[in-house]
Amino acid sequence: MQRDTALFNLIHEELHRQRRGLELIASENFTSLQVMEAMGNVMTNKYAEGYPGRRYYGGCEVVDQSEQLAIDRVKEIFNVTYANVQPHSGAQANAAVMLALLQPGDTILGLDLSMGGHLTHGSAVNFSGKLYKPTFYGVVPETGLIDYTTLEQQARTHKPKLIICGASAYSRDWDYKRIRAVADEIGALVLADISHPAGLIAKGHLNDPCEYCHIVTSTTHKTLRGPRGGIIMMRNDFENPMGQTGPKGEIRMMSQLLDLAVFPGTQGGPLEHVIAAKAVAFFEILQPEFRAYTEQMLKNTKAMEAAFLEKGYNIVSGGSDNHLLLLDLRNKNISGKKAENTLVKADITLNKNMVPFDDKSPFITSGIRVGVPAITTRGLQEVHMPLVVNWLDKVLMDPDNDATIEKVKKEVNEFMLQFALYPEM
Ligand SMILES: *Cc1c(COP(=O)(O)O)cnc(C)c1O
Repeated sequence: MQRDTALFNLIHEELHRQRRGLELIASENFTSLQVMEAMGNVMTNKYAEGYPGRRYYGGCEVVDQSEQLAIDRVKEIFNVTYANVQPHSGAQANAAVMLALLQPGDTILGLDLSMGGHLTHGSAVNFSGKLYKPTFYGVVPETGLIDYTTLEQQARTHKPKLIICGASAYSRDWDYKRIRAVADEIGALVLADISHPAGLIAKGHLNDPCEYCHIVTSTTHKTLRGPRGGIIMMRNDFENPMGQTGPKGEIRMMSQLLDLAVFPGTQGGPLEHVIAAKAVAFFEILQPEFRAYTEQMLKNTKAMEAAFLEKGYNIVSGGSDNHLLLLDLRNKNISGKKAENTLVKADITLNKNMVPFDDKSPFITSGIRVGVPAITTRGLQEVHMPLVVNWLDKVLMDPDNDATIEKVKKEVNEFMLQFALYPEM
C-alpha cells in the first residue's frame, strides 16, 4: 500500500505546533512516549465486547490481561473497589452513570455551565439536559465559591435523584461531605466528576471524593496525563436504590448496573489499545515521579496566580487550589474571544471561558481559562511563570499591534526550545 503522506505530514505539522507553542489549555497535557506506543498498535484490531473473563468474542486472553492491569492499577491509585476503564471519553462515562441510575424525565442537579460546570451536567444542548430534568446551583457572586446554600435549597426543593459535583472551570476544592449530607437527607445519589483535578486527587493534594460520593467519573487525558478516555469508579459497591431490577426481579448491585450501562448500554467494543495506554498511564501515576509532577503543578499555579495579581488581573475566587485559573478580563477591556484569538497568533493557546454572572455570550465571554498541566509536563517551573504572564499581558494589552504579537511569538518559540518535547521523534 502507498504511504499516506498527506496525513503523516499533518501529524508532523501538529508535532511542530505542539513543540513551539506555550500550551495553557487547562484540559490538555502531553502523554509520555510509552503511553502513545501503547495506543498505536495491534490491540486496535481486537473486538472484545464484554469484560475480562466474560467476553462475547474469542481470542481475548491477552486483552483480558491488559484491561485487568488497567483496572487493578486505577483501583490502587484511588483506593476504590470498583473501576470500569472502558468509557471512550469523560462524556461517555457520565452518560453511562446516568443511564444506570436514572429514568428519562428524572431530575438531576449540577453546577451551571456558565458558572464552571460541564455540558454533561445538565446543559440543554446535551443528552443530560434533554433526557433528564436539569436543575442547577452556582457560585456566590461575591466570592466565586460554590454556593452550597443554594445547592442545598435546590436539592430540597427539586428532590433530584442525582446530585453532580465537579467542574471544568473551577479553581477551588469541593466540600463533598456537605453535598453528601443533603443527598442523604433527600435520598439522592452523588456523582463526583473529577475530570479536571483527578491527577491532584490521585496524589492526595485535594479532598478525596471517593469517601463521600457514591460514584466518581473522570477523564484520563487531563491531569492524569493518559490517553483520551474516561473511567468510572466506586469506593464501595451498594445495592441499587433506584428500584431497577434484573431479569428475575433480583435487586442488582450498582457495579453490575454501571458495567451494563457502559456495555451494552452506551458502547459496543471497547478500545483495547486505548485501555492499554490507560494501564501505562496508571503505572506512571503510581511512580514517585508523578508526585513530583503534581507538586510542581501546584507550585506553578501559585506562581502564576501571584504574577497575574501583580499585574492587576481579576482572578475568579481570588486564586486557585488546583491546576487552573479563571481570569475575568472585564477590567482589562478585552473579551475572552479576542484574547484567545490574539494569543494564538503568538503561539500561546488557551480558551475563552464564561465567568460567573457573565454579561457576554458563550461565543464572546468575559474570561479566559489558564492551566498549567501541559507546561508543567514540558518542564516549566515557578521561575518561568512571571515570564509566561508577561507574554500574555503584553499581547492582551496591545491586541491589535502585529509587531508586538510577532515579537512575543518569536520569544515564545525560542524559549520553548529549551523544553524538549518527544526528542526521540
Ligand atoms: C473534560 C470534561 C468532561 C468530558 O470529557 P470528554 O473526554 O471531552 O468527553 C466531563 N466532565 C468534566 C467536568 C470535564 O472537565
